[in-house]
Amino acid sequence: MHDSRDRELGMHRKITRRDFINGVAVTAGAAMMTPHLFAANDREKSSANYPPAQTGMRGSHPGSFEAAHGLRDGTFWDSAGKPEETGENYDLIVVGGGISGLAAAHFYRKANGNKARILILDNHDDFGGHAKRNEFRANSSFRLGFGGTFSIESPAPYSAVAKNVIEELSIDVPSYAKYFKRDLYSSLNLRPRIFFDKQTFGTDKLVVNFSPRYGGESEDSNPETPKLLKQFLADAPIAEQAKRDLQSLYEDPKDYYPGLSSNEKKAKLARISYAKYLTEVAGVHEDIVKVYQSLPHGLFGVGIDAVPAQDAWGFDFPGFRGLKLDPAPGKGMNRDAIPNQEAEKYFFHFPDGNASIARLLVRQLIPQAMPGHSSSDVVLAKANYAKLDDSNSPVRIRLNSTAVRVKHIGDAASANEVEVTYAREGKVYTTRAKNAILACWHVVIPYICPELPDKQKEALASAQKVPLLYTNVLLKNWTSFQKLETNSVYAPSMYHSGLNLDLPVSIGGYECAQKPEDPIVVHMMKAACHAGLPARQQHTFGRMELYTTTFETMERNIRDQLARTLGPGGFDPARDIAAITVNRWPHGYAYEYNSLFDSFWLEGGETPCEVARQPHGRIAIANSDAGAYAYTDEAINQAYRAVGEITKI
Ligand SMILES: Cc1cc2nc3c(=O)[nH]c(=O)nc-3n(C[C@H](O)[C@H](O)[C@H](O)COP(=O)(O)OP(=O)(O)OC[C@H]3O[C@@H](n4cnc5c(N)ncnc54)[C@H](O)[C@@H]3O)c2cc1C
Repeated sequence: MHDSRDRELGMHRKITRRDFINGVAVTAGAAMMTPHLFAANDREKSSANYPPAQTGMRGSHPGSFEAAHGLRDGTFWDSAGKPEETGENYDLIVVGGGISGLAAAHFYRKANGNKARILILDNHDDFGGHAKRNEFRANSSFRLGFGGTFSIESPAPYSAVAKNVIEELSIDVPSYAKYFKRDLYSSLNLRPRIFFDKQTFGTDKLVVNFSPRYGGESEDSNPETPKLLKQFLADAPIAEQAKRDLQSLYEDPKDYYPGLSSNEKKAKLARISYAKYLTEVAGVHEDIVKVYQSLPHGLFGVGIDAVPAQDAWGFDFPGFRGLKLDPAPGKGMNRDAIPNQEAEKYFFHFPDGNASIARLLVRQLIPQAMPGHSSSDVVLAKANYAKLDDSNSPVRIRLNSTAVRVKHIGDAASANEVEVTYAREGKVYTTRAKNAILACWHVVIPYICPELPDKQKEALASAQKVPLLYTNVLLKNWTSFQKLETNSVYAPSMYHSGLNLDLPVSIGGYECAQKPEDPIVVHMMKAACHAGLPARQQHTFGRMELYTTTFETMERNIRDQLARTLGPGGFDPARDIAAITVNRWPHGYAYEYNSLFDSFWLEGGETPCEVARQPHGRIAIANSDAGAYAYTDEAINQAYRAVGEITKI
């Protein structure tokens, strides 16, 4: 049974993931060599080393996390051997080559001059952290995808510091309209839809998506909403009572808290999940909760069981109109849920997402590693990975290198130097610098820097990142999407809760797919959450789930979902899938505070991220975790602050 379904799905077909074992290329040459003869340095200097073109399991790929997990489990030093001294001496060592780490190096050079010697360590085989680039080839077509950070966007306006970096990189945000083929999908009559699955709703069915939030349009500004709602109610496989309840949420809004002031109502909404608000306060049929359950996955990595009703009000989800709330944000609202027009206008999507920002930062730091001169030519530029860690360059990026110990030489208050020990391909090395910036994930820091005060380590450990999969599937064509008249499908109960045709952007000589017969990247998103638990616990379980699920299982789920969603449009997974890249992020978005689970967020007082980011002697702490906001501008802001703590800027 399993085998015949696997055959239908094309599990045995040769695509560009079969040539990769767990995301590691097995080229003819490499396959002939035994790994220990092929030292890491040689491999990284070889022209065959080009991580963006690898498919299969990417993101936290095999080889990137084992040393850190050994530290967590207390086993690392048992087998580590004595560290070897590199004899290198830097002005600054940055742990973490994401946007925060790269921006920290950028700010440090601005303050100290371009001769400052900087080493950036990262445990992955590619730089950029979450801002990762996925490349694909199908016949003569070249396609890009974003492996993580999708775009320049933030719920609040970019700070002057973050905007300045964007401008220094010559990214002209208002010019985005020039590159974005805004009408491509609408001109083909494609629109957002919802996929109801038979395990949850009794039948597999694709239904029009009526909700403004599903489609990214505001309800008030979309005159089609009433018509779409009618069509949705006619087609959706949900209980009749649920349909009546949904209609009345929209058309007959009620005040469920009569007699309370607007602030008193908001205070109640801040303390109840949207799921409970719907069933226990508005008293709607549970099928409505099933439809809305996964809607916030893309933003928070959890469902409506863990999103405060007050935030759902901010997002314009149904059920609040009758409360007649004053539009001012309520206490404890998430920044994401507070509309801000200035912030909404500041948007730019490169075809590889904010990997272009990381690549532009690398171009500034190590020009010989990234050819070109403009923010548009970087899109097609081929990075020279052999130049990243070059002894002739004042700035070096050392990949596949996990920092395992960061300590002052002597007492933190009086030390002149910091020693950083890192693990690289089974060996351990030490190197020294005047200062260190930890721009890595906060949960890792207590293990690598035990000399920090206990209170700070506890605060760092509380930044439980949000586990996510960003999956890119290269399809040979998208005629099935055209036949089904959709470009984006929300799937409340499937393995991936959303799938989208690539956002059509042509820039710097890169051409996006323009005809349904062209190869295209389909982006799928999964939040590995465990509904019903407090958010941090959901993230812990989800992280374990992502680390322990095999690529084969993920691939089967991907093929099954695409087949069931697009099959009625003629899609055949065995024939139409050309490549699969799963960007696994068990440590994904920075944890953002939530009024349901973080009492300090409602009551005021010091937040854990403020405690966590305190400088300690010559060590400063960056990363978007340091601001508890999962955005690029926050990663940059925190880098700026951290550099300011160890040097004058
Ligand atoms: C899937 C996804 C999509 C996102 N989309 C957006 C978006 O569209 N827009 C937006 O603004 N933001 C988005 N974000 C948020 C994103 O995290 C930030 O924008 C930003 O890229 C974070 O940068 P950072 O440097 O703080 O962290 P990271 O990018 O996580 O970089 C930290 C680096 O430190 C490394 N590291 C950890 N421990 C060690 C160690 N011991 N030794 C060496 N290296 C170590 C990590 O592996 C990582 O490479 C997204 C995040 C994810 C996960």
